Amino acid sequence: MIREVKHSRYLMGKLEHDSDLLEWLNKFCKAKNVTLGRVEVIGSVKRARLAYYAQKEKIYRYFEVDEPLEITSLIGNVSLREGEPVVHAHVNLANAKGEAFGGHLAQGTVVFAGEFLIQEFTGPEFSRGFDEATGLPLWSNEDTT
Ligand code: ZN
Repeated sequence: MIREVKHSRYLMGKLEHDSDLLEWLNKFCKAKNVTLGRVEVIGSVKRARLAYYAQKEKIYRYFEVDEPLEITSLIGNVSLREGEPVVHAHVNLANAKGEAFGGHLAQGTVVFAGEFLIQEFTGPEFSRGFDEATGLPLWSNEDTT
C-alpha cells in the first residue's frame, strides 16, 4: 500500500512532566484531530517501557529500563485504528554512560522533559487492521490509485 499525502499543519511544543509519553501523544493527536502524520520527539524520560516484536511467535515482548534516560531519537507516525488516531513510535534512549536502548514505544514510559514536533498530513485515510502474514496491525486500506 503506497499513497501520496500532502503536509498541512505543524504542531510543536513541550511534553508534560510526569506524563506517559505514548498516552500523551495519543491524547494530543485526538484533541487536535490529527489522524495522519509523523511524530518526532527529543528529551528525557524517568524510565522506559519498550517492546520487541518476536517475529516467529508473533507477539510483543515488553521490557523496562528503570533509570533516567535521554530520548536521543523518537520517530513515529499517526494513523487510524478502529477510527481513533494512534501513534506508532520507535525510540532510541541513552543512559548516563551513553549506552543505548531501543524499541517499539509502549505505555509506561514516563516523561521527564521533552519537545515534540508533529507534522500533519492530509490525503487518503490510513487505517490499521490485522495482517495475517505478520500478526501485526498494519495499514490495511486497499489501493485506490
Ligand atoms: Zn513498532
